[in-house]
Amino acid sequence: MADLDVTPELLRRYDRPVPRYTSYPTADRFTPSFTADSYLAALARADARSDEPLGLYLHLPFCRHQCAYCGCAMVASSDPERLSEYLERLLLEIDRVVAHLPRRRKVAEIQLGGGTPNMYSPGELSRLLDHLTKHFTLVPGAEVAIEVDPREASASIVAELRAAGFTRISFGVQDTDDDVQHAIGRVQALDKTREVTEAARAAGFDSVNIDLIYGLPKQTRDSFARTLELALTLKPDRVALFSFAYIPEQRKNQVRIVQDDLPNVDDKLAIFCDARRAFVAAGYVPIGMDHFARPGDELAHALAHGTLNRTFQGYTVSHATDMLGFGMSAIGEVGGAYAQNEKNVRAWSKRIDEGALPIVRGVALSEDDERRRFVIRALMCRFAVDDAMLSKRFGVTLAGALSDGLERLGPLVEEGLATVAPGRVEVTPLGRLFVRNVAAAFDSYLHRMPAAVPYSRAV
Ligand code: SF4
Repeated sequence: MADLDVTPELLRRYDRPVPRYTSYPTADRFTPSFTADSYLAALARADARSDEPLGLYLHLPFCRHQCAYCGCAMVASSDPERLSEYLERLLLEIDRVVAHLPRRRKVAEIQLGGGTPNMYSPGELSRLLDHLTKHFTLVPGAEVAIEVDPREASASIVAELRAAGFTRISFGVQDTDDDVQHAIGRVQALDKTREVTEAARAAGFDSVNIDLIYGLPKQTRDSFARTLELALTLKPDRVALFSFAYIPEQRKNQVRIVQDDLPNVDDKLAIFCDARRAFVAAGYVPIGMDHFARPGDELAHALAHGTLNRTFQGYTVSHATDMLGFGMSAIGEVGGAYAQNEKNVRAWSKRIDEGALPIVRGVALSEDDERRRFVIRALMCRFAVDDAMLSKRFGVTLAGALSDGLERLGPLVEEGLATVAPGRVEVTPLGRLFVRNVAAAFDSYLHRMPAAVPYSRAV
């Protein structure tokens, strides 16, 4: 995609609260009427598709301290006993779920997220991977990914992680500026980040990624320009550039942030525009709104070849058709349903100790949900959907089954974000930047009932 002249004025026009569509229906539509028994039925349906590869997501929630900006499901603890007890329970949860999947054992993707997965030693993480590969067979080219906090890592730890079998590594960087780092309660020396990214490349990881955040307290256009310059010297294969959502009424830890230190809306939009321009100028391919990949990276390749996929972990190259979630708060996508575990570590532990599955809410998709998810995913990943794709899968057409969505696209077509031809919807190059807004036209929940939680804004 040629770069667009992205200006703050343009962004402001489309900067509305809108779901990120890592799932459809979105997680705020999950209900407690989806129980552990509903999950067992979903696992039985998933098991019947024995040839299709699975994805596995494991949530390791511990961090030494909580950062002021944190919005993750985390537990502030470095107590080795607590970490070890959690790991043992996680292994039990895996065994318990696997017992209901006697035939479905191929895996295309394993993701460790958190929290800080590397609060565990490479030896403990290796034990976790061994436990998984005892039950499952990795298909050729399977991705084994881990999120790593450089402050808890070293060159030798990174090399051990590669030796344990991880193939992709993502480092949290966020911002390199001292003032910003103090304002967000996360002080991380650039030398440390450089040490671990270089070690990851030397160790032979397939993809070395970094995460940045814009809109943080004390951030200015100048300070973030320096962060971008330094981030580019790390030569990441992929960059995730997240927008900071300041919601102290929901996230108590964010009361530590001084509101007056936050960049105003104009500055925040300008910081995003600067960042996007910097990555495009450095040769990165924009993936959706907030990801950038080197042209040689698998993610850019998948975008070019129409094989990009989207799950709770964001854009992915894997084609696992179901994703099992393990650990507190984890969400799985299994057998035509979404299922979420207990969000609280004590409640999750209690369910494991009782011999139960820790599922507390979810949703079984209706036929209409399935069709809309298909369309939303196609728009988010391939930037187009047509009758041929839809009728091959569901035996319906866009006009026949989703005419409400086509109608809602009207204003977006006028604004140049999408085009609608008979039997085909396409996202324009400009619309790719606001693809969540285009996808939202097909979200029937959004137009039927208010959101249970406020969505983040498009920018
Ligand atoms: S390292 Fe990440 S998960 Fe842990 S407290 Fe900081 S922001 Fe939250």
